[in-house]
Amino acid sequence: MNNRRRQSAANFESRVREIGMEIFEHAEDARPQVWQKAWWLDRVMGLLDRDERLRTRAFQFVDCLPTLSSNAAIACHLAEYFDPERYSLPRAVHALFGTGWLRRWREDVVGRTARFGARQMAGRFITGYDMPSSIQMIERLRSQGMAFTLDVLGESTTSRQRAEVYAGIYMELVDRLTRMAREWPVIRLIDEERIGPMPRVQISVKLTGMDPHFDAIDPERSIHNVADRLRPLLRRARDRGAYVTIDMESSKHRELTFELFGRLMMEPEFREWDHIAIVVQAYLQEAENDLHRLLEWRGKRGSRFGIRLVKGAYWDAEMAAAVRQYAKPLVWTEKRQSDACFERMTRTLLENADLVRPAFASHNVRSLAVAIAWAERLGVPRNAYEVQMLYGMGDPLKAAMVRMGQCLRVYCPYGDLMPGMGYLIRRLLENSSNEGFLKQSFGLRASHDRLLADPAVVKPASAASPARFYQNSDAEEPMGEFKNAGNTSFTSAENRKKMLGAIQYVHGERGRTYPLIVNGQSVSTKSWFESVNPSDPEEVIGQVAQARVVDVDAAVTAARAAYLPWRMTRAIDRAQLLRKVADRLEMRRFELAATMILEVGKPWREADADVTEAVDHWRYYAEQIERIESRPRLRNLPGEDNMLTYSPKGVCAVISPYAFPLAILSGMTSAALAAGNTVVMKPARHAGVTAAKLVEILHDVGMPAGTVNFIPGPGATVVQYLIEHGDVNILAFTGSHEVGAGVIRAGAIVRPGQAFIKKMIVEMGGQNAIIIDDDADLNGAVQAVIESAFAFAGQKCSSCSRLIVLDEVYEAMETRLKEAVECVPIGPADQPSTLVGPLIDEEARRRVQDYVEVGRETSTVLVEARLPAECEKGYFVPPIVFGDVRPDARIAQEEVFGPVLSMIRAADFDEALDIANNTRYALTGGLFSRSPAHIDRAKREFAVGNLYVNRKITGSQVDAQPFGGFRLSGTGVKAGSPDYLLHFMDARCITENTLRSGLVPREEKSTVS
Ligand SMILES: Cc1cc2nc3c(=O)[nH]c(=O)nc-3n(C[C@H](O)[C@H](O)[C@H](O)COP(=O)(O)OP(=O)(O)OC[C@H]3O[C@@H](n4cnc5c(N)ncnc54)[C@H](O)[C@@H]3O)c2cc1C
Repeated sequence: MNNRRRQSAANFESRVREIGMEIFEHAEDARPQVWQKAWWLDRVMGLLDRDERLRTRAFQFVDCLPTLSSNAAIACHLAEYFDPERYSLPRAVHALFGTGWLRRWREDVVGRTARFGARQMAGRFITGYDMPSSIQMIERLRSQGMAFTLDVLGESTTSRQRAEVYAGIYMELVDRLTRMAREWPVIRLIDEERIGPMPRVQISVKLTGMDPHFDAIDPERSIHNVADRLRPLLRRARDRGAYVTIDMESSKHRELTFELFGRLMMEPEFREWDHIAIVVQAYLQEAENDLHRLLEWRGKRGSRFGIRLVKGAYWDAEMAAAVRQYAKPLVWTEKRQSDACFERMTRTLLENADLVRPAFASHNVRSLAVAIAWAERLGVPRNAYEVQMLYGMGDPLKAAMVRMGQCLRVYCPYGDLMPGMGYLIRRLLENSSNEGFLKQSFGLRASHDRLLADPAVVKPASAASPARFYQNSDAEEPMGEFKNAGNTSFTSAENRKKMLGAIQYVHGERGRTYPLIVNGQSVSTKSWFESVNPSDPEEVIGQVAQARVVDVDAAVTAARAAYLPWRMTRAIDRAQLLRKVADRLEMRRFELAATMILEVGKPWREADADVTEAVDHWRYYAEQIERIESRPRLRNLPGEDNMLTYSPKGVCAVISPYAFPLAILSGMTSAALAAGNTVVMKPARHAGVTAAKLVEILHDVGMPAGTVNFIPGPGATVVQYLIEHGDVNILAFTGSHEVGAGVIRAGAIVRPGQAFIKKMIVEMGGQNAIIIDDDADLNGAVQAVIESAFAFAGQKCSSCSRLIVLDEVYEAMETRLKEAVECVPIGPADQPSTLVGPLIDEEARRRVQDYVEVGRETSTVLVEARLPAECEKGYFVPPIVFGDVRPDARIAQEEVFGPVLSMIRAADFDEALDIANNTRYALTGGLFSRSPAHIDRAKREFAVGNLYVNRKITGSQVDAQPFGGFRLSGTGVKAGSPDYLLHFMDARCITENTLRSGLVPREEKSTVS
C-alpha cells in the first residue's frame, strides 16, 4: 500500500470511528430505563445468557408454549423443562422452579404467568398478533420518524390453502395500508428519496410461504407455482403504490429466489417497476458474486430496484447442515469474515447507488458507521439509501439513527405466534449470541474500541474447527476415519444437469442384457426377465438372465472354492478392495441413481440417498473389519495368553429387496465380504439391472472370481434352493415377513451331511407408527409424516403406515394433513419434483388397492390424492389417508407396503403408546412431542428398533442410526452398527499356556510383579 492510500484508509477509519461514537452517544441517551418494559426484558435475557443449558431450555419452552392450550399443560411443561432433578440447572433456577413450590402453586397462576412472560418476550419482536394492533404499532413508529416494512409470519407453508391465505393477507394489507397511508402526514426523511416519493407502505415476503414445494430440485415447476401466486400480489402492490422486498431464506432457496426474482422482474408488466427489492446475505462466501450478478442483471433490466444487504439469519442452521454432510460450509465460519464481507459489499452498493437503492440492514454500529462513512466519501445523499433494523432489536440504535437524520426502516413482523415461531427463535438466538454485536455492546459492554475495530484487521479467532460447535461433547471420539458420504445437492444446476443426463443415458441402455456371473464368467440362460420402468411399463430397462437350479449350484460351488483364498486374504487388503468399490460407486453415482429411478421408480432424492447409503456400507465395513482385527485381545493371565478371534463362516447367500436396490444389497454383501465370506447374490427380481451394475463394479475393482456370484432368478426356485443348500452357511435376507419367516423355518433345518447351523440374518417389514402428541409442532409433523408415509409410494420397510394422534390435536392435524396430501407431488419417478412415484408392479398395485378397499369398508377416507394424467401408464396408486381407524383394523395391523396411512385417535399419551406397541412388528417409530417427560417415556417404552423423535422416520444413516428391528420385524441385528459384522463371523477364544517348566515369559513377569 503506498503512502497516499494508507493515509486515505487511516482517514476513513477515523471517520468511521467518529460516526460510530456519535451513534453510541445518541444510543446511550435512548437506553431503556428501569420503568420501561424493555429494561426488564433485557434483564431476563441477561439472566438466561448466564447459562447455556438454561437458555436452551427456556427457548425450547417458548417454542412449545403456543401449542399448550391449558394452564395445567403449561404448568406441567414448565416443571418438565426446568425439573432440577433431571437437568442440572444453576442454583438460582432451582430456587425459582424447585419442585417444592412449583407443585404447591396453583396451576392457573403458573400457567398465566408463563404465558404472560412468553407473550412479553414474543411481543418484543412481533408487532402484533392481528392486523389492527400491527397497524397501530407502525403508526406509532412513523410518529417517531421511522418507516416500516411489514412481514406476515408464515414461512415454510405445508399446503396450497395456507399459501393462499398467506398471499391473501398480504393483499388485504396492501389495500388497507395504502388507503390509510393517504392520511399519513409526510415525513421527508423517510417518505422521499432522491428521485421522488418513496412508497410509505412496504412489505417483505418470504417465498417459502407462497408454495409448499418451493424446491430447487425442480426449479421450473417451483418458479411457475410461486410466480403464479406472487404476480397478483405484485400487481396489487404496484397499482396501489406499495414497495415489496423479497426476503432471502436459507441457502437451499437462494438460487431459486434469485432466478424467480430475475424472471418476474423482466416480464413486461414489471420491468419498469422500481419499487421492488431483493436481499443479499453477506455471511455467504458467494455473497460478493451474488451482488455482482445482480448489478450485471440491473444493466440488462434497465430500471432500478432495491438491494437489502444483510449478514444472514440462518448461520447456525447452515453450519449444522454443512457439518452433517461433511461439506465445506457455504457461510463464513468467523464472524469477522461476515462483517468484513458486509463492509466490502457496502462500498460496492454505494458505488452503484444511482443504479440500485441500497438498504443496510444491521444493528452493528461498526457496520452502519461504515455505510454512512462510504456514503459521505462517495457523495451519496442520505435519501438515496436507508438503514433497516428489526422490530424489537437495538431500539436505542434506531433512535440514534433518527436523531442523526438517517432514513430508518423497521422490519415489522406480525401474525400468529405459531407460524412465527421460527422467526422468534432466530431473534432470540441473535439477541443472546455471544458473538452478536447487540450482546457484545449492550449486554457485555465491550469497549467502543473493540466494537468499532475494522473486522478486516481483527485477529482471527482461535482456529477451532467449525465442526466442534456441533460435536456431542459426551460422545466418545470416533473409532476411525469413517465419514458418511454426502447426498447430492440438487440446488446446484450442474448436479441437476448431471442427473438429467444420467437418466437419458440409462434410457439409452434400454433393452441391454445382463447375464449371470458365476466364478467370474458371464452365463446366459435361456430364460430372461424383462425389468421394466414401473412409471411406464412399456419401457424395458434391461433383460436380466434368470438362474436355474443348476446355475445356483454352480454359483455356490464357485463361492465355496473362492472361500479359502478370500478368507486368507489379509483383512487390510479386503478392506482396501471394499473402499475401491465405494469410490467407484461414487464415481457412477448419477448413473446408478438414474438406474434406480427408472428400474424401481425411486424419486430423485431417494435414489441418490440409496447410492449414498451403499457407499457408506462399503466404507464402513472396511473400517470395521480393520477395527475388529486390531482390537486388543482378551485379558492375559499370568502364564496364559488369551485371544478372541473372529473367523468367517463360509458362503453367504444375500437375498435383497427392491426397496433399497443398491443400499441393502451393498450392506449385506459388503459385510459378508469384509468378514471374509464369499457371496452368492440373489437380488430382487425387479432390481436386477441395478444389482448387475454393482456386480460390474466389483469386477472392475478386481474382486477375485467366485468371491461374489450373481444369480438373479425367480424367488420360488432360487431362494428356496439357496436356503436348503448344504454349502450355504449364512442366509442374509431382507424382505417381507412372509418370505423372511419361510427363510428362518427352512434355514433352521439341519440337513443330512450339513455340519453346521445356518446363521440367519433376517430383516423384515414393519407396521410403523408416528405418535403426534398434543403439544407437537404440527407443521413440522405434517411435513415429516408426508415424507415418511408417501415418499417412494410408501414402499420402504421404514415407511409410516399408522399415525396416532392425541385427541386434543386430532382435528387440527387432520385438516393440515388433508391439505398437504391434496398437493403432494405424484408423478413418474424421473420427474425431479416427484415424491410419490409408482408401485413396483401390477401385483403390488392390486395388493395395495385391495387394502384400500378394505380401508374403505372399515374406515372413512380422510383424503385421497388425485393422480395426474402422466400417471396413466404406470403402476400408480394415489396416496390415501383413512381417518378414525380402529387400532385393530387390518389396515392398521398388516404390512401394506404402499401409500396408505391410517389415522388413529388416542385419548392420551398412555393410550397412544399402547396403540403404537400393539402390533407384531417393531421396526421404526416416531414421536412428535415437546414434552421432555413424554420423549423420555417413548425412549423407554416405544418398542421399535429405530425410534425417531421430532423428525421423519425414514432415511437412517450408517454409523449414526444403525438400522434394524425386532419382534416380527427382524432378529434384532443392526445394519450399519459396529456389531453388524460379528453376525457374519464365528468368535473363537484361544488360550495358550505360556509357562514352560515354571518359566514365565518376561513381559508377563512384569505384570505379575
Ligand atoms: C431489516 C432487516 C431485514 C432482514 N432480512 C433478512 C433476510 O431477508 N434474510 C436473512 O437471512 N436475514 C435477514 N435479516 C437478519 C440479518 O441477516 C441478521 O441476522 C441480523 O440483522 C443480525 O446481524 P447484525 O449485523 O445486526 O448483527 P451482528 O451481531 O453484527 O451480526 C450477527 C450476524 O453475523 C453472522 N455470524 C454470527 N456468527 C458468525 C460466525 N461465527 N461466522 C460467520 N458469521 C457469523 C450471522 O449472520 C449473524 O446473524 C434482516 C435484518 C434486518 C435488520
